[in-house]
Amino acid sequence: MSATPSHMIETSVLIVGAGPVGLALAADLGSRGVACVVVEQGDGAIFHPRANTINSRTMEFCRRWGVAEKVRNSGTPPDFPLDIFYVTGLQGHVVAHIGRPTYGGAKPLPTTPERSQRCNQVFFDPILRDLARSFRGVDLRYRHRLDSFVETPGGVEAAVSDLAAGAPLKIAARYLVSCCGGRSSVPAALGVRWEGMPAVSRHLNVFLRIRELWNHIKIDKAAFYFFLDKEGRNPSLIEIDGDELWRLGLNLRDEKVDPASIDIDAAVKRYVGPDVKYEIISSLPWTCRSIVADCWRKGPVFLAGDAVHQHSPSGGFGMNTGLGDAFDLSWKLAATLQGWAGPGLLDSYELERKPVARRIVRAATESRAEFVAPGLRGLVEDDTPEGEAARKTMGAEIARDRVGVFVSDGIVLGARYDGSNVIAPDGSPRPADSVTTYTPTARPGSRAPHAWIAPGKSTLDLFGDGFALLNFGGDGDAMTAAAKAKGVPLTETKIADPGVAALYERKLALARPDGYVAWRGDEPPGDCGALIDRVRGAA
Ligand SMILES: Cc1cc2nc3c(=O)[nH]c(=O)nc-3n(C[C@H](O)[C@H](O)[C@H](O)COP(=O)(O)OP(=O)(O)OC[C@H]3O[C@@H](n4cnc5c(N)ncnc54)[C@H](O)[C@@H]3O)c2cc1C
Repeated sequence: MSATPSHMIETSVLIVGAGPVGLALAADLGSRGVACVVVEQGDGAIFHPRANTINSRTMEFCRRWGVAEKVRNSGTPPDFPLDIFYVTGLQGHVVAHIGRPTYGGAKPLPTTPERSQRCNQVFFDPILRDLARSFRGVDLRYRHRLDSFVETPGGVEAAVSDLAAGAPLKIAARYLVSCCGGRSSVPAALGVRWEGMPAVSRHLNVFLRIRELWNHIKIDKAAFYFFLDKEGRNPSLIEIDGDELWRLGLNLRDEKVDPASIDIDAAVKRYVGPDVKYEIISSLPWTCRSIVADCWRKGPVFLAGDAVHQHSPSGGFGMNTGLGDAFDLSWKLAATLQGWAGPGLLDSYELERKPVARRIVRAATESRAEFVAPGLRGLVEDDTPEGEAARKTMGAEIARDRVGVFVSDGIVLGARYDGSNVIAPDGSPRPADSVTTYTPTARPGSRAPHAWIAPGKSTLDLFGDGFALLNFGGDGDAMTAAAKAKGVPLTETKIADPGVAALYERKLALARPDGYVAWRGDEPPGDCGALIDRVRGAA
């Protein structure tokens, strides 16, 4: 990056927005030695808690970045009960109780080296910010707003306002990635159209401080309380720090209710308890959408995160999907800028990520469906035998239908890039799609399976900077030579463990820097150069 006297900054990648997706992209580019400037109109303060769930896949990214331990030690303590209660109120009746192990108590998973965590964005975003800033090539500028941009022969030129100095600035970049969230005008400026439902429901979230809540309520300590009421509004109370921070979620339904007119005090008294002391830290009205952008790239400009997909927070996918976008795009930008990619590599970004986003938006929308028989709602709060019977029926329904909603391994670890132009299919059958169940597979287009290859070392730890050729007794020489001839970084690792070999099902597997299998086979292909061209987008 360099500055000229006319306040023109030059960089490789201009990132718009320092939400979690922009910060993750900056950090990953920084880790790959790519210079980038991040402009964020805000000052970096996070006034309201949004995403809580850091899923296993995001934790795998954090593992690569060396911050997994920090995430584990931030947010919800490992011994905090992650149980889910469906109740009529915290002074009322329990309708259903879904017990879940604490993160500290849960056994290691066979499918990933990194268990998901509860670490709200109020804690997680600063970890990403510090990580991004730790790389010399990352120039993170708060209070800087992107005003407009034009395409140039060399990439893009952006007009930016330095809000603190009140001065205009120009930034020239080879690529612009807008991680500008769901409220920005950048997607519209690119002519993006949205598929799906722009407004599913309206909500008001209230960020509360309640000291030692569990000493003032009849229900056991838990991470999630879902309230069942006569009106079917079903608010929720969700823990943020495992101590005194909570988020009350109120459903405004589709009515044109002014969020400012909501009586928050009445809601707290009704659902939490009339005598429980609380303090409102902030509140956030938001609209639940179910949308995916039709276009994720226009020339040198890319979109990622909430700028291209928004859906119900149910399932906790939103931020995690955005980080998946960043992780997919980052190595492709790096490879292109470093000169070892063909033009098709950046084309693969939309081809790979859009179908994943569509699948996730569908799953999140389906999982927010009504969860109690509407006919019984009117009785749920009643202290009568009929009320008791209604609660029993509802509890059985919840136990039957809702437990799976909190399990999404098939979405988290099973995202596949089947239609990608830079994946070489091997003709093996397409695995069944499941939201809840992840079945490890090394079929090209899948996340390469995890297995321990040494104490504390996962197969996933082999992936990162270049391509990785996993060799389970095959001949990797021709592939290594072909990669070298094309200038593609590739490291071969021989693995003797038959259990790991069985998981990959072939003697050779080629994994990309993002840990996705690009090709596998028992023999190297006849033309290894053609295969390398395919996976680097130069076919
Ligand atoms: C109530 C709620 C609960 C949620 N729970 C979860 C959950 O449990 N799990 C999960 O994964 N997700 C969850 N989400 C979704 C998650 O918060 C978002 O998906 C995530 O924050 C999106 O990150 P982003 O970086 O794409 O966008 P944002 O976080 O919105 O960041 C975009 C940034 O771009 C900046 N910006 C915009 N335009 C400009 C401009 N012109 N110039 C400079 N800067 C600009 C904005 O100021 C903003 O800081 C939840 C969301 C809500 C509303």
